[in-house]
Amino acid sequence: MKFEELGLAETLLRAVRGEGYSIPTKIQAAAIPPILEGRDLLGCAQTGTGKTAAFALPVLQRLSATPHRGTGKRKIRALVLAPTRELAVQIAESFQVYGQYTGMRRTVIYGGVGQVPQVRALQAGVDVLIATPGRLLDLMQQRFVDLSQIEILVLDEADRMLDMGFIHDLRRIVEKAPDRRQTLLFSATMPSAIR
Ligand code: AMP
Repeated sequence: MKFEELGLAETLLRAVRGEGYSIPTKIQAAAIPPILEGRDLLGCAQTGTGKTAAFALPVLQRLSATPHRGTGKRKIRALVLAPTRELAVQIAESFQVYGQYTGMRRTVIYGGVGQVPQVRALQAGVDVLIATPGRLLDLMQQRFVDLSQIEILVLDEADRMLDMGFIHDLRRIVEKAPDRRQTLLFSATMPSAIR
């Protein structure tokens, strides 16, 4: 299987080639086509398997199909939730690399640091927001984040988010996203609580 066979646009294939990837990993080959079709997905994959590209590439492609136009502020259209600052930052870097030819803008927010630069980035307008649940909820309560235009929700390392006690935060966040959306959930393990 080659990347060219997955249905990805040239803007994304160019970025993939730039990273030196020649063949998709197992999770990429399995997840990219159904995500491109707009289906919900439950992915069982650990870090190191290439799971970030497995969702970032098709998410970027779906958003690029209806790019932001005009002078109005960009609305957050994809939200990626991750358990830790380190993972959130890594995911944001991946969106930057894979999306470099798509014109999509992204930012990352996490706790433990001042909120001012994060709020500024949000106010500038982004297509993709990567966040840890606590800081996201905090900024939502301060009305700096509007999730009403979310088209795609990604929950990454869902089992770790549950282990870390984020379930209540997650429920409150998901409540604010439209019901009519694509949902992707990735987890290293699939205990019944996750399912
Ligand atoms: P992840 O599981 O998303 O944290 O990715 C683990 C590592 O695999 C990252 O350093 C990626 O750059 C790399 N990677 C992702 N997809 C591929 C691929 N198809 N071929 C080679 N390396 C890859």
